[in-house]
Amino acid sequence: MRVCFWGTRGSLPSSLTSEAVKTKIVKVLTLARQRRLDDDDALLAFVEHDLPFALRGTYGGNTSCVEIRGGTGQVLCDAGSGLRDFATSVMQRQKAGLLKPPHEFHLFLSHPHWDHIQGFPFFTPAFIPGNKIHIYGCHEGLRDVFVRQQELPFFPVPLAVMRAEITFTRLEPGKTQEIAGFQVTPIRQNHPGDSYGYSFIRDGKKIVYSTDSEHKGDAEQADYPFLDFFRNADLLIFDAQYTLLDAIHVKENWGHSSNLMAVELAVRSDVKRLCLYHNEHTCDDEALDRFLEGTRKYLRLHAEDSPMAIDLAYDGLEIEV
Ligand SMILES: [Zn+2]
Ligand SMILES: [Zn+2]
Repeated sequence: MRVCFWGTRGSLPSSLTSEAVKTKIVKVLTLARQRRLDDDDALLAFVEHDLPFALRGTYGGNTSCVEIRGGTGQVLCDAGSGLRDFATSVMQRQKAGLLKPPHEFHLFLSHPHWDHIQGFPFFTPAFIPGNKIHIYGCHEGLRDVFVRQQELPFFPVPLAVMRAEITFTRLEPGKTQEIAGFQVTPIRQNHPGDSYGYSFIRDGKKIVYSTDSEHKGDAEQADYPFLDFFRNADLLIFDAQYTLLDAIHVKENWGHSSNLMAVELAVRSDVKRLCLYHNEHTCDDEALDRFLEGTRKYLRLHAEDSPMAIDLAYDGLEIEV
């Protein structure tokens, strides 16, 4: 299975400004000054191996959208602004003969907050007759949410204009169903208005998508339900929007968790690979680099022998599971 991240920001899209690009260029050139970069190979090696991610790339600015490849259909989690880039890739892969129309998509929705549905009005495949889009969630009235998002005065193109076949299916938390070749199980999460995480199991591999979820004091209990839900996951995608200080002080009850909570729960659940997700929209690339480094340091302090790998999601990240 392969997991492709199309949108990784939380709450709001965030742009890379011209000033930020200029700052990156100046820092890279300053570092390059001390190096001999006479040929292309040396130049490429410098960029790929010697520059921090914040200088050679960017975490990106799209809101939540993750694709899980390897099932029997096209599987997505959430429809934030990253869905637009996923749509572009579908059309490109179709043009290159790698994907054959009509397309069938299975979209699992954590919850209908704006940053998780705002990409749908721009989802090109939804306008193409013959395509099928199955939308799954645990909230009541999901169809209404999608209809209202595209009503005037919010958006000029109503959902009814989208000519693909769009269906809505309500799933029950705790109940496992076979969908698109995966054993899919939802869980209810602590978030304003509720949100739902999903575990996907196929061929002995387990991926958990758990965003917009605040874990609090009861997470310390031995029978905390998320321990079983995350147990032995090959990949856990976890809402770590906040620092510990934000999570327990200023932004308590805002519905998100910290990087330290991510590490603690993942270690207790024997997760193999942890991917921090729903990145804070006010953080720039260097702040996110520091956030990832701090999280890895915390793992070494908290569980010295843990073999768990930690990533911080970025738009364009792909993880083989
Ligand atoms: Zn969100
Ligand atoms: Zn939310």
